[in-house]
Amino acid sequence: MFVDIAKIRVKAGKGGDGRVAFHREKYVAAGGPDGGDGGKGGDIVFVADKHLSTLLDFRFKRKYTAPDGDMGGTNKSFGKNGENVYIKVPVGTLIKDAATGAILHDMSDEQPFVAARGGRGGWGNTHFATPTRQAPRFAKPGLPGDELELLLELKLIADVGFLGFPNVGKSTLLSVISAARPKIANYHFTTLSPNLGVVYVGEGQSFVAADIPGIIEGAAEGAGLGHDFLRHIDRCRMLVHVVDVAGSEGRDPVEDLIAINAELAAFSETLATRPQIIAANKCDILDPESDNLQRLRDKAEELGYELIEISAASNQGTKELIYKVWQLLETLPPVTVYEPEVDLSIMTEVPKEREIIIEHEDGIWYITGAWVEKIVSSINFDDYESRMYFDRVLRKAGVFDMLERDGIQEKDTVDVFGLQFEYVY
Ligand code: GDP
Ligand code: MG
Repeated sequence: MFVDIAKIRVKAGKGGDGRVAFHREKYVAAGGPDGGDGGKGGDIVFVADKHLSTLLDFRFKRKYTAPDGDMGGTNKSFGKNGENVYIKVPVGTLIKDAATGAILHDMSDEQPFVAARGGRGGWGNTHFATPTRQAPRFAKPGLPGDELELLLELKLIADVGFLGFPNVGKSTLLSVISAARPKIANYHFTTLSPNLGVVYVGEGQSFVAADIPGIIEGAAEGAGLGHDFLRHIDRCRMLVHVVDVAGSEGRDPVEDLIAINAELAAFSETLATRPQIIAANKCDILDPESDNLQRLRDKAEELGYELIEISAASNQGTKELIYKVWQLLETLPPVTVYEPEVDLSIMTEVPKEREIIIEHEDGIWYITGAWVEKIVSSINFDDYESRMYFDRVLRKAGVFDMLERDGIQEKDTVDVFGLQFEYVY
């Protein structure tokens, strides 16, 4: 089965907690704090793999979790970082934010892409020693890692896409002009997954062609393929429209050409305007009495397409076709690479600005904002000193001043992300 779309959940590792520890040595009564920092949580990293051609793996595994960082050690030693998890995807996979559909990254080159970052490790108690607090009995927990739902969408990278009804000879053509060995059979639906082949033109000259299951292949028979497959020719720089000029299945070649182009236009106007070359195939079995070739030629001329007579099965005319394709490719822009629509670092990075929102509702003062949330997530509320630390951070950031300015009263309830406490001056 060919799988070209998948939804997965990724979760980067949590940072390791900082350690509370004190230096111990023989004959030294009370050593200073020496609790180390927690390690960083593992990242979720995507890598493009040339050997993959479908997203099938993601049908079976939908959740990817990177390990957490280890807790800090004694003697100021750092906790071990969580290992990164590498996810292999076919070249040309778009990684999108599932919630908004926005493109985060186009895996069309060798660059790995960090989709979810592991949380930073918490500071050990070493960091919290001050002249007046020489023995801090608290450390900070590590920060949570990013967690995202992603939509993976495969858009093949090929210079040329083969277009046409089933059984017109697309797979045969690919097999004779490249080293690719797609399934060839005289029944429909043989091509359920796209095949890519490198076509050698001459010294240092080659292009990638993709034999893609036809539009009609799915649409007409209700196999559910239909337009989905058109996303694969989305990036192609040009199309080779393969037509069975012999009409060996009882259809008319001119009608075939019109029908497929109409489907194309219905799907996308840009695709419909992509340059095409018509490969009039199966010329070897063309009835000499038939006017099929002439009518197709006239239609092609009317549409402004070049037509090449070929027989894929007997490898006739294919050299000329390759040459014409190459000539046209030289005049065309390179394969489209999609720009990210969202900067992931903005989505997940700790906001630099101290965003604090205060709302008063039903007698409760709600404090929210991305900055406050990050602080809350890094505090260990079971620990008294950590709570005091939290108190000081809020005070320093001016949260209490803001509350008093807005008219908070003694003993009013304050809510910080679900954590409620009574306000006392
Ligand atoms: P696809 O569905 O478009 O990929 O078509 P295939 O390449 O699988 O070919 C369908 C059938 O047409 C197979 O039986 C091929 O052997 C046959 N075929 C393909 N090209 C030619 C050709 O040039 N001449 C003849 N006579 N048969 C061909
Ligand atoms: Mg085929």
